[in-house]
Amino acid sequence: MCGRQGAFPRDLSGVGYVYRCTAKCGYRTNSREHWKLHEETHQPQEFYICGICKHKPEGEKYAVFGRHKELLFHIRHEHPDRDAEDIVRQSKQDYVAGFKRRCGFCGDRFLTWDLRNEHILEHFDSMHERGVSDMSEWKDPWPADGA
Ligand SMILES: [Zn+2]
Ligand SMILES: [Zn+2]
Ligand SMILES: [Zn+2]
Repeated sequence: MCGRQGAFPRDLSGVGYVYRCTAKCGYRTNSREHWKLHEETHQPQEFYICGICKHKPEGEKYAVFGRHKELLFHIRHEHPDRDAEDIVRQSKQDYVAGFKRRCGFCGDRFLTWDLRNEHILEHFDSMHERGVSDMSEWKDPWPADGA
């Protein structure tokens, strides 16, 4: 059968995928959650300094993490005898993350990262309904910002 009649037909063009990386790295998915996580790899929205290592003189140099799961990985390896949840609480930094505040499809501005994501996901959904889904219309930076 070579998978030709399979439930998951191979789609080499990628046309079947709805959500695409706005940094245009080529990532695409049909999962809204995976898309959000992927967007955060380009524009990290969290910042941690290990709550144990930061008390060592040399700690801040190597115990900085952009993602919750990276911190957990560090705790499991470096501090396996400690309560991970407790360390995470001590490690989270008050930090207003920067991100690109304009929609590359329509130029809208966003106040928060979550609003941005919801807005852009809506674009992908409506493009998908029209049978198109690609990043060719995405503008970064938005032309009006050029000056
Ligand atoms: Zn990407
Ligand atoms: Zn540590
Ligand atoms: Zn938009």
